[in-house]
Formats: sequence, structure tokens, C-alpha cells
Amino acid sequence: MISAQTPEGELRRCPVCGQPGQVDSPADSLCDHCGNVTRFENQASITITLASFPVFDQKNIEVFTRVRDIVNDVKPTELLLDFQNVKYLSSSAFGRLLSVLKELNKSSCQVVVCNLEPAIKGIFQITRADQLVKMQEAE
Ligand SMILES: [Zn+2]
Repeated sequence: MISAQTPEGELRRCPVCGQPGQVDSPADSLCDHCGNVTRFENQASITITLASFPVFDQKNIEVFTRVRDIVNDVKPTELLLDFQNVKYLSSSAFGRLLSVLKELNKSSCQVVVCNLEPAIKGIFQITRADQLVKMQEAE
């Protein structure tokens, strides 16, 4: 295992738990702390898997802020947020996610979301958050 490095040589932090990341290949970063997979296909595209958190609430709301920070850092043109295993977003967690999505919408990064539970997809539609992202159907 080697320390994850950005192309600029900075240590990557896991966007999900905030711990310094590890990589087992230059393209994939599997966090030893929370099991999140961040894929850096290349600098242009990042995939963040939120699989380790079935429930988003006040306790882990900072995950979305870290996602924003890593996007601001790496400046990809596309961010894929994989909601695999996410069953519930509290209203405060969704509020934070929404403000991050609005912010990223003004940047040059296209946010793509996938594997949304029907209930969460419904929240995206009601709040028009679906206008800020590209919905990708499950693979
Ligand atoms: Zn982590």
C-alpha cells in the first residue's frame, strides 16, 4: 500500500470519512477507514461511493462538505456520486447535499448520481435537485 497522491503530490483524503486515503492502484482509492471507494478515472472524472452509510443524518452530514472540497481540489469535469446502499437522508443531510449540489452546479463540474432508492429519487424530484444533476439509471 502506498499513500494516495494527487497528481500534484498532495495526500488525498477520503471524501467520506476525511481520513488520509490509501490506494492500491493509481486509479482506485479504497479507504481503509470506512470502505468508501473513490475512483479517479483520470483527473477529469471522480467516482465517490457512499456505500458505507445507509443513513445520512446530522452525524455524517460533513461527508457532503468533504465531497465538495475534494471536487474543488481535484477540479474534475464529472463527479459520479454512487448512492448504493443509502436508504435514508434526513432533511438536514439533504439540505447540506442540496447546497453542495447548487454550489457545484455553478462550477464546471457535472454531477451524476446513480443507484438512488425510489424514495430518495422522489426527494430529488420534489426539491428539483434533479435539475442540478444528471440521473444515471442503475447498472
Ligand atoms: Zn473513508
